[in-house]
Parts: sequence; C-alpha cells; structure tokens
Amino acid sequence: MEQWDVIVVGAGNAAFCAALSAAEFGKKVLVLERAPEDESGGNSRFTAGLMRVAYSGVEDLKKAIPDLSPEEIARTDFGTYTEDQFLDDMGRVTEYRCDPDLTEILVKNSLSTVEWMRKKGVRFTAAWGRQAFNIGGRFKFWGGLTVEAVGGGPGLVESLIAIAKKNGVEVWFNARATELMHGDSGVTGVRVKKDGKTRDVNAKAVVLAAGGFQSDPEWRTRYLGPGWELAKVRGTRFNTGDGIRMALAAGAAPTGNWSGCHAVAWERNAPEFGDLAVGDQFQKHSYPWGIYINAEGRRFVDEGADFRNYTYAKYGRVVLSQPGQFAWQIFDAKVKAQLRDEYKIKQVTKRVGNTLEELVAKLEDTDQAAALEEIRAYNAAVQTEIPFNPNVKDGRCTKNLRINKSNWANTLDTPPFEAYAVTCGITFSFGGLKINTDAQVLSSDGAPIPGLYAAGELVGGIFWFNYPGGTGLTNGSVFGRIAGRNAARA
Ligand SMILES: Cc1cc2nc3c(=O)[nH]c(=O)nc-3n(C[C@H](O)[C@H](O)[C@H](O)COP(=O)(O)OP(=O)(O)OC[C@H]3O[C@@H](n4cnc5c(N)ncnc54)[C@H](O)[C@@H]3O)c2cc1C
Repeated sequence: MEQWDVIVVGAGNAAFCAALSAAEFGKKVLVLERAPEDESGGNSRFTAGLMRVAYSGVEDLKKAIPDLSPEEIARTDFGTYTEDQFLDDMGRVTEYRCDPDLTEILVKNSLSTVEWMRKKGVRFTAAWGRQAFNIGGRFKFWGGLTVEAVGGGPGLVESLIAIAKKNGVEVWFNARATELMHGDSGVTGVRVKKDGKTRDVNAKAVVLAAGGFQSDPEWRTRYLGPGWELAKVRGTRFNTGDGIRMALAAGAAPTGNWSGCHAVAWERNAPEFGDLAVGDQFQKHSYPWGIYINAEGRRFVDEGADFRNYTYAKYGRVVLSQPGQFAWQIFDAKVKAQLRDEYKIKQVTKRVGNTLEELVAKLEDTDQAAALEEIRAYNAAVQTEIPFNPNVKDGRCTKNLRINKSNWANTLDTPPFEAYAVTCGITFSFGGLKINTDAQVLSSDGAPIPGLYAAGELVGGIFWFNYPGGTGLTNGSVFGRIAGRNAARA
C-alpha cells in the first residue's frame, strides 16, 4: 500500500492550487486526474483564464501583473474594484444567499492568492480584449474583471502542471478516484482506478477538487430539473459528480443551490461537450447590444438588464426554457464592431439579410411573421433620445413592451442584419459539499470529517442562481490554497 501525505482528486485550477500549497510544507503530494493527459485540466482548461480580484488601483494590479509597462498603464483606465464592490456583487447576483463567511474569505483573499500564484510562476495580464472598451484611444475597464492568465485557460493549466511537477508533486493521468477510504478516524485514502486497474492509495489527508456534476445528464435532470438533459456541456466531459458522490457516501453534508447552475447562451449546433480546439468561443455574450427572439418569434428576456458579466450566467437557463430550447440573437450593422470575437469563428449558425424581411425569412424553426412584427414593435419602442453608451448602464430603454429592454436599446435599422442561433450551454452546477472556512468538509452531523478537504466547483453554498463573471477560478484558487495548506498540517 502506497503512503502519501496529501492526495488531491482532480487536476484543474483548484486542485493544483491545493497541491502547490501542500507542497510548500515539504509534503509528498499526489494529484489524481481521471482524464488522459491531453484532455486533463478540467473546466479550468476551457476558460479564458479571467480571474475576479478586488483591487484599489494599478499598484494592487501590479502585484498580479508586475510586467505592466508604463505605456500600458498610461493608455488604460483600470479604475478600482474594491472588496466592498466584490462583496456587493456577490450578494446582489446570488440574491444574498451566498455563504457570508466563505464569501468574505473569497473576496479578501482574491488579490493575495493571485499574487501568490504569480510568485509561483503563473503569469497574468490585463483583459483588454474582453473586459475594456477603447474610448478615444484609452481603454476603460467596465466590469470589475481585469486580470487574466497569459494563454487563457490552457496557459493557466499548462503552467500550473509544470510548476507543480517542478515542486515535486506527482501527477497520475487516467486515474479515476472511485471511493474514499474512511473509518472512525476520518478519511485515510482513496480507491483509484488507474489505467483500468483498481488500487488503494493511503494518505494523511485528501483534497477533493473534482468539479461539479454538470457533465452527467442523469444528475442534471435529477437535480436541475426537466429539460436539463438537453443542455450542451461547455467544458470537460469528466466532471460527473464523482467527488460529491464519494464525499456524500463518507457522510458529508450537501449544501447550496442544488437546482441551480451557471449556464450561458451557446452555439446551437455545438457538440455535446466542450471542444478544446474551440474553447469558450461557442459562447455568444454580445446580446446586450441586440435582441433575443425565440421560435415563436417573441422576445423573452431583458437583454439589457445589467452588464453582461452579471446576466450571462443565468440567461442560459432562460434560453433552455424556450420552445425547442433555442433562440436567435439579432444585431444590425451599427453594433457589428462591438460583437465579441466569438461571433467571428466559423462554427456559428449565422443568418444574414439586407432587410429585416430577408433576415427573418432565413430563421428556420421560427414563426417568421411573428418575428418581423416583434422586431418592428421593438424598434418603435426604443427611446432614441437617450444616448447609447456601452460603458455605463445608459438607461437607453424601450417603453410599453411586454418585456422591455432596460439599457443599450438600439433600433435594428442598419443593414446587413445578422442572427445567431444559440441554445443553453451549462458551465457548472452550484450545489455541492459543505465546507468551513478552513476548507474542511463538514459531515451531515455538522463536524469536520477528519482528513477531508474540498475546493472549487464541487463546493456548495457560494453561488446561487447567478454568478459574477470570473469568480470560478478565483474561488478554486482561494479555497484550493487554503485546503492544501490545512491538508498538509493534518
Ligand atoms: C467554457 C468555459 C469558460 C469559462 N471561463 C471562465 C473564466 O474565464 N473565468 C472563471 O473564473 N471561470 C470560468 N469558467 C468556470 C471555471 O472553469 C470553473 O469555475 C473552474 O475552472 C473550476 O475549477 P475546478 O478546479 O473546481 O474544476 P475543474 O477545472 O473542472 O477540475 C476538475 C478536475 O477533476 C477531474 N476529475 C473529475 N472526476 C474525477 C475523479 N473521479 N478522479 C480524478 N479526477 C477527477 C477532472 O478531470 C478535472 O481535471 C469557465 C468554464 C467553462 C466551461
């Protein structure tokens, strides 16, 4: 029987932060990854690498991005994103259900944890491309989301693996944890199926960082509700709830928003699971600049309710609930330059028309007459006297529609017109394991299970209903670091 100090289950961002943190104590650390090496890294590899951190100015940002040049600083308005703003955002978007103690730890450790990762060797830059607008030659960040890993998710995961190996962490690929070994003294190891052979591996402590249950259609339908088996999975096919299942079997308490998840507008004809060659580019996040139309030709959501960072994660569910589980995003030429890069990939279901009549005639599976009438009614309701400004909630709205658009309402009047078909892409499930502020997994009796820690997607209680963009990686890093440190001391 092999003996390790700390076993980490999973090989995404949360797992490697836990492994690196445990390794700081000179511990013998093993990372178990279910996926083969070329598909390893979990959802973390699929990300853009964006990380939400609180900062009070450029000096703080330089802790994460020390190589910001004076020219870059001169041509950018980074603004500030204070701890209070981050806390407010978490409260507001989760309807004040986020666990207050865990949320405070998340926010207050966000910058220092990214700084710690930087010191380990992970490189970060500023997300000029996705989170800032160029106004008169100067970039202005608009949504509190400023830091991104160099090379996005693939860059982040590759550098974490390399740094972990350099720090003596052993990584097993094709190694699926199937059970926790546990008894009265707590968790003592992991049963693992490696390359088709089952073996038991002992450890003084185990950190679970094996992701949520979103990639299992049966769990999705069971917990998220009817219709969820029809959603596409944005990321890895390997996050099927194993970590949660193993911990529950060892007496852990479930907590959080089990019927909730992060889900976005996603290319209608995307494959069932994420494709690493396309990454997150199947997403379609520019809806605030246009309108949504469903199969009945009707608008169904306020596309301009808030900045996209605060609506995108809950609108996937809204799209899934439309007839046929799809919708069209419609834009005119006025906003073409503002459409995000993901609209330019070749794997899009896109229709173009030089008139609105021509466009709607190309919208298959859709009540075209109703769609034309809806677009005309929308155009007539736009309050054009209010100026359009993408940097602020500009209040340029529609009036007297069944569903109004609150901001950024532009008339669709300038050809060519474009429509993109989207469905729902699920990112990760919100329900999971209950942990305390030391990242110890709590039993259903309320006490910590000795030797068991958890971090990342499989922890419940932090995200409810919705999510501020870029918080998933920060959450995994902050609690992964805490879990690794405490597991090392166990
Ligand atoms: C397309 C996309 C884009 C995203 N963009 C962003 C972004 O820019 N910023 C952001 O903050 N968040 C983003 N997210 C969310 C983010 O990916 C997650 O919140 C975060 O990566 C979760 O990290 P994790 O380490 O908990 O899980 P993961 O990175 O998913 O890692 C889980 C690991 O567990 C392994 N595993 C599963 N079961 C077992 C088992 N039984 N035994 C061993 N290993 C197992 C998996 O193979 C995987 O390696 C995005 C997600 C997707 C899908």
